[in-house]
Amino acid sequence: MASERQIYVGPIPIGGGAPVAVQTMTKTETANLSATMEQIRKVAEAGADIVRVAVPREQDSHALKEIVAQSPIPVIADIHFNHTLALKAIEAGAHCVRINPGNIGGPEKVAEVTALAKRHGTPLRVGVNSGSLPKHLRDLEFESPVDALVTAAVETVELMERLDFQNFKVSMKSTSVPNTIASNRLLSEKIPYPLHLGITEAGTKWSGSLKSAVGLGTLLADGIGDTIRISLSTFHAEEEVKVAWEILKALKLREKGPVLIACPTCGRLQFDMDRVVAEVEKRLEAYGDPIEVSVLGCAVNGIGEARHADFGITGAKDMGMIYSKGEPLKKVPTHELVDELFKEIDKYYAAGKTVTLDEREAAEAREWLAANEDADAMTPEKLAALEAATAVQESEADAVLESMLESKGPANGDGPAIDEAASPVSGRRFTRQR
Ligand code: SF4
Repeated sequence: MASERQIYVGPIPIGGGAPVAVQTMTKTETANLSATMEQIRKVAEAGADIVRVAVPREQDSHALKEIVAQSPIPVIADIHFNHTLALKAIEAGAHCVRINPGNIGGPEKVAEVTALAKRHGTPLRVGVNSGSLPKHLRDLEFESPVDALVTAAVETVELMERLDFQNFKVSMKSTSVPNTIASNRLLSEKIPYPLHLGITEAGTKWSGSLKSAVGLGTLLADGIGDTIRISLSTFHAEEEVKVAWEILKALKLREKGPVLIACPTCGRLQFDMDRVVAEVEKRLEAYGDPIEVSVLGCAVNGIGEARHADFGITGAKDMGMIYSKGEPLKKVPTHELVDELFKEIDKYYAAGKTVTLDEREAAEAREWLAANEDADAMTPEKLAALEAATAVQESEADAVLESMLESKGPANGDGPAIDEAASPVSGRRFTRQR
């Protein structure tokens, strides 16, 4: 269930239907101002809405004031064990402070932090980690780690409410993807506060991205989660931001920059598509608009599969073609495909987002396409389309059968009604864009 409450971290709304915010965390020594600011600027450029910095020592809390002043995006101070540092972070103007009430020294210390946060209007992120659950939940953790996590999170929320503090979001972190999914689903039913999602210590760029995509993607598709951080074992925090955006873009929760579509390639490929795709992806980074660009490894299947793409290329051994919305634009030598593609994209923007077509070039391209496509070839795309069509036919047949059964009425008169809204992809999240 989506969160009802909304808080603000600086100018960024979190929860209550706001776009899912992208966070990351700097990996520099926070007190090293120049290195920390350099990383913050990089992550902001990559699209981070919010950045978190670790504040484990006095000198880090001293640097915080300047970091907050210089940062182009809101800054969260990440504090463990030492509530004095949390107080200093609030006084330094941090836009939010992260504490785990379970390890900050007891309810009295938490009360001191919430009292000061209230005076400054500073939101808190309060959380629990699977690795540091309170002692009284250890037995439950052994029996059911998910229930133990959720119980700890609910107890934390109750503590905040007893302290009359509502300006917070909650995080519940686990290294286990299934436990992260199950516990956040359960917690989202129990509390109205915004949720921060992440998979703790997810791993390297490759495995960590996949784990995060599965865990966070599943929850986000359910409408659960208001801010996300992808934890990757890399010094380059901007990589975490890029992965977070790919997850949000894949779910169509937010739009940012171009979408690249590329075929998986197969034995029909006749040019170095790996290199071409990598180059197109790199050059697209310079564009902010959410245009769709497609790269097809061959034209055997025509270009119908990419008819939704704003621009695309397809190639053969020596010659290739540029197209737009399924229409051939021009044929070009394969080694010039990428340059010519970007010339067309730039022309499109220069003409106020209008595709300009040279009829002679387009005719040549159509001729090339006709010579290179094979209407009868069974390609991976055609197989996928056939499977999709079969699935639609089967589901239509099921629907007809169900409606016949319904119109007859259930034998006992009170059979179950079909609830279309129960689809996991129904709901507000898929309609919201930044
Ligand atoms: S048949 Fe499809 S998958 Fe194979 S190279 Fe051509 S476009 Fe790519």
